[in-house]
Amino acid sequence: MTKKEKILIIIERLKKIFPDPRCALYYREPYELLIATRLSAQCTDERVNIVTPPMFDFYKSIEDFSNADIMDVENFVKTCGLYKTKSKDIINMCKMLIEDFGGIVPDNIPELTKLPGIGRKTANLIIGDIYGKPSIVVDTHCIRVSNRLGLVKKEKDPYKIELSLKKVVPLDESSNFCHRLVFWGREYCKARNPLCEECVMKDFCIEK
Ligand code: SF4
Repeated sequence: MTKKEKILIIIERLKKIFPDPRCALYYREPYELLIATRLSAQCTDERVNIVTPPMFDFYKSIEDFSNADIMDVENFVKTCGLYKTKSKDIINMCKMLIEDFGGIVPDNIPELTKLPGIGRKTANLIIGDIYGKPSIVVDTHCIRVSNRLGLVKKEKDPYKIELSLKKVVPLDESSNFCHRLVFWGREYCKARNPLCEECVMKDFCIEK
């Protein structure tokens, strides 16, 4: 079986378990997803979703964030970890969105990764979830599960995994595939004590 054939089977199995693969982070506007994703680094989505609704109600636009007092932003996000760096990034990111991008969140990876604190993972999330473009979001779950399912071989480098998956995942499935892979990694193929007994991917697993 080729890797492309294997991916199609995995996608179908994931679809049955996770029919609605929406991003777990709360947001209403594209820039809010950018901010929520920045906050989610080394923090849980649940924690970020507690912090962001009142902050997004307080700062109602990119302009509001760009003019924010850093200590006020820090107070909103202090339970998310690395809060000083994240607060600085949020304000500087919104300033750059206004000054360099006309207040519009870019729709491509080269421009998105110019924003403070934004790497390829977040950039891919934005182009997939906001703009509906093909995207491969490689996070810690994607790295672990891709290796266990033999989609990559002993590879930990997110960029190399992104390139490998891009070669085999159908473009129109790529964004949803990554969301489903994360859900799968969180609920079944956990880092510790994966639920191998009830795993429907056992036949592909190289670690079982
Ligand atoms: S058998 Fe276990 S380790 Fe392998 S893919 Fe399934 S849950 Fe993950």
